[in-house]
Amino acid sequence: LEYSSQLEAKSQELGRTARQLKEANDKLVALSVQKDGFLSQISHELRTPMTSIRSFSEILMHGETMTPEERQRYSSIIHDETIRLTRLLDDLLDLSVLENGQVTLNEADWTLEAILDRAVAATERAGPGPAMTIDRDRAGERTRIRTDGDRLAQVFINLIANAQKYCDADAPRLRIVVRERQGRPVVDFMDNGSGIPQKAQAVIFEKFARVSDHRAAGGAGLGLAICREVMHRLGGGIAYLPGQGGAAFRVTLPRRQAEAA
Ligand code: ADP
Repeated sequence: LEYSSQLEAKSQELGRTARQLKEANDKLVALSVQKDGFLSQISHELRTPMTSIRSFSEILMHGETMTPEERQRYSSIIHDETIRLTRLLDDLLDLSVLENGQVTLNEADWTLEAILDRAVAATERAGPGPAMTIDRDRAGERTRIRTDGDRLAQVFINLIANAQKYCDADAPRLRIVVRERQGRPVVDFMDNGSGIPQKAQAVIFEKFARVSDHRAAGGAGLGLAICREVMHRLGGGIAYLPGQGGAAFRVTLPRRQAEAA
């Protein structure tokens, strides 16, 4: 009898181990699928500009009968694609540094106004088309925070630049409002474009996620993934706010020091 209960215990233990092994294996498989997916997406993203650089440089090399205008146009395509590649590599590198937690934060005391001023100034030069009007909430922006100003500005710049890129309204407008939610300062960015379809809202913070009809806008879909990582490192977060008309993003900051204490 004792022998059979020992056997029973052993077999239960084996069952548990088998389940754990299977779970571990499932996780490994999922991870490697993710990694393969990531690598193939990177190769795909690199291939497109590389192909166009190669073909236009070949045209330039063999085009003896080319007009100066043609020469100018092909060179400028090569130039633009090279810039796109560099930006893509910079973003990938930044993302990998952020994901591996190798970032050193440079914290200082800031007002949201100062960081937003920087972000707005940095995005002013960007893009053709009608200039976007930005409505600010100066009173709310007096909120003081302790954070890495460069990193938070990077997130704000991304959101403002996205509003410029994707806001397809005739009179593009962005409203930036500071609020307090559950004791934390939050900054809302609400544009008057067509917003993001509900189905896509769940994936836009993933690497390489793009809403299909925006492919032409040229981004690699890394901006919001970087924003999410940065906000995570800064002890806050970022989320899409559905149902606001246009696209709306909420950046949540960590509770202020004095209140947290
Ligand atoms: P990228 O702009 O490089 O494509 P992002 O990660 O910044 O990548 O954005 C992911 C996708 O989310 C964009 O391709 C676009 O389809 C969508 N998106 C982001 N911001 C907005 C916005 N303000 N309005 C509409 N769509 C947006």
